[in-house]
Amino acid sequence: MDAKSTLKHYFGYDSFRGGQEEVVNAILEGRDVLAIMPTGAGKSICYQIPALMLDGITIVVSPLISLMQDQVKALNKAGVHAAYINSSLTESQISKALFLASQGTYKIIYVAPERLGGYEFNAFARSAHISMVTIDEAHCISQWGQDFRPAYLKILDFVNGLPKRPVVSAFTATATKEVKDDILCILNLNAPKVVITGFDRQNLYYRVEQVRKKDAFIVDYIKEHPDQSGIIYCATRKNTDAVCELLKSEGIRASEYHAGLGTEQRKNNQDDFIYDRVDVIVATNAFGMGIDKPDVRFVIHYNMPQSMENYYQEAGRAGRDGEPAECILLFSPQDVVINRMLLDSKDFSDTDIEDIELIKQRDMYRLRVMENYCRTTECLRNYILRYFGENTGESCNNCGNCNQAYTEYDMTDEARWVINCIAETHGRYGLTIVIGTLMGVDRARLRELGTTVYRSYGALKDMSEADIRLLISRMIQLGYIYQTQEQYSVLRIGNIESLRSEAARVVIRKHKKTPEQLYYDTRG
Ligand code: ADP
Repeated sequence: MDAKSTLKHYFGYDSFRGGQEEVVNAILEGRDVLAIMPTGAGKSICYQIPALMLDGITIVVSPLISLMQDQVKALNKAGVHAAYINSSLTESQISKALFLASQGTYKIIYVAPERLGGYEFNAFARSAHISMVTIDEAHCISQWGQDFRPAYLKILDFVNGLPKRPVVSAFTATATKEVKDDILCILNLNAPKVVITGFDRQNLYYRVEQVRKKDAFIVDYIKEHPDQSGIIYCATRKNTDAVCELLKSEGIRASEYHAGLGTEQRKNNQDDFIYDRVDVIVATNAFGMGIDKPDVRFVIHYNMPQSMENYYQEAGRAGRDGEPAECILLFSPQDVVINRMLLDSKDFSDTDIEDIELIKQRDMYRLRVMENYCRTTECLRNYILRYFGENTGESCNNCGNCNQAYTEYDMTDEARWVINCIAETHGRYGLTIVIGTLMGVDRARLRELGTTVYRSYGALKDMSEADIRLLISRMIQLGYIYQTQEQYSVLRIGNIESLRSEAARVVIRKHKKTPEQLYYDTRG
């Protein structure tokens, strides 16, 4: 059976989606693969089809028990012999599964990374014919990723310990350069075929709203979109409870999902949503992994998430059927403070991560990128795509920022002052000090640092802080300056060659608040 017939036979699909066939063919030719595809693109099939066609067994390293269970259940239903090995099984169940595996019962075996070092699993793997090792959610191998999992570092040893090196294929939805390089390097992929499919989900309409009355906004939005399925993401369980109660009291069919609920309750609430017994599910980010509801028409974030990776993944649960869907982020500056606190109190005690400081720095960096998404007045789609390493062209004309009325201001002279200020202070300071200096504020801290003696001190005293922020974020986008990726990041000068030209222009856009936004700012 060829790949296409295998697809039809087991999964019932007539054709491959973008990128899938390329990955399948590369694996079948015996090449290592790194596939970077957004959530919902159909990564599983990319390794399941070759797994079915290769002689031996495929081992899939996967980070989450629930994910493994779902996959194995779906495969069994499709008539594929598959099993998982993880801590949800007792020791004797594991022994039995490994015995059956060694008899050739299973074509695909999912395994938690922690098992790879175990004696029993290794004994099995060394005596079996392993054709492929697949690493799902491969970004877990990188300390740059937000889900770093130390046990993923053991994968290479495991592969090297096998009598014959299998094909190694890795899959992830995180495409930042750092993560990609880490995967290629740490897994030591052999002349890999790297397949990156577009991160642009054209049917998704992105919007950021900074309104004071978030509750009123949500209630009205849902009532204006009756019978549509939607997800409301909140930062905390407390918010989740409150918003869900509010919706119910407004007669909206809603249920909630967070880690504080019992397993059974969570499952019931999730099913209520999947089977359309409720329209809306209010959830923390615990909700969504492995959920495949195609007709989610809107995803509203009640609070700003901690990173673009999280946002893209959560918002991406909208519109999996390819029909138009909306992704709305309700931003308030308070969200930044809350997230900083959450990140600061993040618990590392159950990991063996050594460099916690480094992880914290990167967390803070990702939070800043996320905050800038909420504050930018540029095309939101391009902002997302650029972050995930794609080149972008014109504005999309199909996002909240592109469609909002704005006024453009030429800030070329002001931009040069920002550069002067960073140069004069030798790139030692972050946003607050640079802005304070440019505004010429009279603060002891600035006198202490000596920035009050510079020429740029007070050079932009007629601008508001918000406008200077906007200008700086525009300049970062244009690459004239950049923020270092430390916890206390500083501004540095980037590539200013083009700014030297007489014709250079730095233009910022300022949104006019829409009547709708004003309404939700003032409504009682
Ligand atoms: P990912 O892991 O990339 O988030 P999944 O592997 O869970 O995505 O696939 C998302 C959905 O798309 C699943 O319901 C899957 O069955 C479906 N799918 C995958 N490939 C195809 C295809 N070629 N044709 C139609 N549907 C597909």
